Amino acid sequence: MSTFLPESIAVYLPTFVQIVYLITASMFIIGLKRLGSPATARSGNQLASLAMFIGVIVTLFDREIISFEYIIIGVIVGTAIGALLAKRVEMTSMPELVAVFNGFGGAASALVAAGEYLRIAEVNLPGSDLFIMCISIFIGSVTFTGSLIAYAKLSGKISGNPITFPGQKPLNALLMVVILGLSVYFVIDPTYLVPLLIVLGISLLLGILFVIPIGGADMPVVISLLNSLSGIAASAAGFVVGNSLLIIAGALVGASGLILTNIMCKAMNRTLTNVLFGAFGGDGGAAAVGEGGPKNYKEAMADDVAVMTAYAQRVVIVPGYGLAVAQAQHTIREVASLLEAKGVDVKYGIHPVAGRMPGHMNVLLAEANVPYPQLYDMDDINPEFEKTDVVLVIGANDVVNPQARNNPASPIYGMPILNVDKAKTVIILKRSMNTGFAGIDNDLFYLDNSYMFFGDAKKSLQTLVGAIKEL
Ligand code: NDP
Repeated sequence: MSTFLPESIAVYLPTFVQIVYLITASMFIIGLKRLGSPATARSGNQLASLAMFIGVIVTLFDREIISFEYIIIGVIVGTAIGALLAKRVEMTSMPELVAVFNGFGGAASALVAAGEYLRIAEVNLPGSDLFIMCISIFIGSVTFTGSLIAYAKLSGKISGNPITFPGQKPLNALLMVVILGLSVYFVIDPTYLVPLLIVLGISLLLGILFVIPIGGADMPVVISLLNSLSGIAASAAGFVVGNSLLIIAGALVGASGLILTNIMCKAMNRTLTNVLFGAFGGDGGAAAVGEGGPKNYKEAMADDVAVMTAYAQRVVIVPGYGLAVAQAQHTIREVASLLEAKGVDVKYGIHPVAGRMPGHMNVLLAEANVPYPQLYDMDDINPEFEKTDVVLVIGANDVVNPQARNNPASPIYGMPILNVDKAKTVIILKRSMNTGFAGIDNDLFYLDNSYMFFGDAKKSLQTLVGAIKEL
């Protein structure tokens, strides 16, 4: 019973708390649902944040935490760091930020579980609770160090190349067995802290060993998986402290992270096992080495591109990672507006893994106020290419590589792509003949209907704006 509320009110507190948890859990679910469309995503995010805020406040009351000094300091410091990071981070570095957030989420869950053990060590806890404590510490710690390695690989602080050594997989399996054995020992005799500390240490090591053999290029998938793990760790921590909201929120993160991981693997036509154990792709970006020596490609200048696009009936814009790097989203919007003013029908074709994280292109284009109805998913835009006059491929490479359709020997064979080669003319904006993320040459560049428009995407598009205005 609460000691800081009048008794007549305090009797209702547990029921009140559970009702608020139910409402906030529903708000999370509605918020998640709203994230499904760019038009409602912002409000969905705000709704889920509000739910989290209410959940925290109610939990503080429920646990009779009414001395707020440390909490307020934590909130101020955390908000300041979070706001600064979110403001300063470039859109292209967003996966790194997410990696760090996941890592700290995992660490927090492990700390909650460890803290709970220290707080109630003297109480006789059932074995199942003790085992969940170990699970929470294990998953949280793996997520923490795994995410830090993912961050370091993505940001180039360590090499993105897969780091492998003989006996790596058996070692990982052995460490898992040791963790399981120690957890069982801890459940049988929880008076000794040492087994729990060893579980913690080995789990931290496993997080590193798990991520280092994975190529830097696959880090976004790993981050999505770690995100899911951080949710599962939070859910386990929720069982440890007996908080239903934490269990639900963690389960939602766990499930949605898994779904996202699955979507990404499907869009690259790879299995999760291949991503995790295939040691595919390092840093990417090597020079294109086509089989059979140099091949011929045609070049177009801004004036040519202006004429081709301005006198076209239908133009499709295909953005990729290079558009994000060049921050060319506003300039492409300007090009599109100029073309529309000349009566051209302009659409955007978005590949599910264009860029370096899911939804990357949608977010960028939304930032430049590109109307949502103009954005077409791969399946919706693909049938349109045959009747399209000009496709502008901006900083995209793998997601438009016909090898994925035609060449069974290609590492990206089977990956669904945007069939831009079916359009009458394709103009590719990039800086050089270098490869993209998968590190392979692109047959599209050498087709009869393809033209390379070299340069930084933003600068090229700025020149194009000038050229269209002069027509
Ligand atoms: P790619 O990485 O295949 O190609 C991007 C191209 O952009 C490069 O070839 C580069 O060529 C060009 N580029 C870079 N900087 C600039 C610039 N400033 N101006 C103009 N061009 C530039 O990107 P895609 O978007 O086509 O494909 C994404 C890849 O990422 C896929 O292979 C996908 O599987 C992978 N991936 C995506 C994930 C996601 O969730 N979105 C997750 C995991 C992987 P150059 O150097 O010549 O300029």
